[in-house]
Amino acid sequence: AIPVLTIDGPGGAGKGTVCMRVAAAMGWHLLDSGALYRLLGLAARQHGVELTDEEALARLAAGLDVDFEVNRDATAVTTLLEGAPVDQLLRTEQTGSDASQVAAIPAVREALLERQRGFAKAPGLVADGRDMGTVVFPEADLKIFLTASAEERARRRYMQLKEQGLSANLSALQDEMEARDRRDRERSVAPLKPAEDAWEVDTTDLDIVGVVDMILERLRD
Ligand code: C5P
Repeated sequence: AIPVLTIDGPGGAGKGTVCMRVAAAMGWHLLDSGALYRLLGLAARQHGVELTDEEALARLAAGLDVDFEVNRDATAVTTLLEGAPVDQLLRTEQTGSDASQVAAIPAVREALLERQRGFAKAPGLVADGRDMGTVVFPEADLKIFLTASAEERARRRYMQLKEQGLSANLSALQDEMEARDRRDRERSVAPLKPAEDAWEVDTTDLDIVGVVDMILERLRD
C-alpha cells in the first residue's frame, strides 16, 4: 500500500506549512483538500450557481476542472481553475467561508471523494484537510490533528494574508474563522474532529520547524 500521512485540524493551526515541508522532506505528493472546496466555491460564483443549490454544486464538483502546477524549483504551486490561475482569490477569507458552505453538502463531499483518493501515489502522500484521517484515508499510516488557540490561529492567518499582500482586520478575521470552525465542527457529514487513532498536537507555543521535525521522526521510525 502507498504510505499516507494525514494532517487535519481547524484553519490557521499550521497544517498548510507543515504539510508542504513534510512532503518536500519525504519527496511525497501533497493533497490540499481545502483547495478543492475553495475552488468549488469559486467555480460556483463564476458560473452563477447559488451556494445553496445542492444538486448543481454536486454536478459542478464532479466535473471540476482543476490543476496544480508545481514551478521549476518546486517552491510554489500555481492553482488553475478551468485553465486560469486563481491563487490570490483562493486564499481570501470570503473564499474560505464559501468553501465551508459547499463543504457541508453530503453530495458535494461524495463527488470529491475518489478524486482525493487518487492523490495517493508512490512514493507516498501527505493529505491536508478536515476529514483526511476520519473519512478519506481511514487506513492512513500516521494521523495527526493539529490545533492552536483561536487567537494564535487568527494571528497566523493574518500574517499569512499580509505576506500575500491581502489586507485583513485581525478581530474580524478571528470572528470569521470561529464561525467557519463552528460550521465545520457541527455539520452532519464529515465533521471536523480528530480520528480516534490521531496524534493530537497543540502548536500554540511550538514553532513550525519543531512540529515538522517531530512528524518526520515519527514517519521515519
Ligand atoms: O483548509 P482550508 O481553509 O483551505 O479549507 C477551507 C474549507 O474547506 C474548510 O473550512 C472546510 O469547510 C472545507 N474543508 C473540508 N474538508 C476538507 C478540507 C476543507 O470540509 N478535507
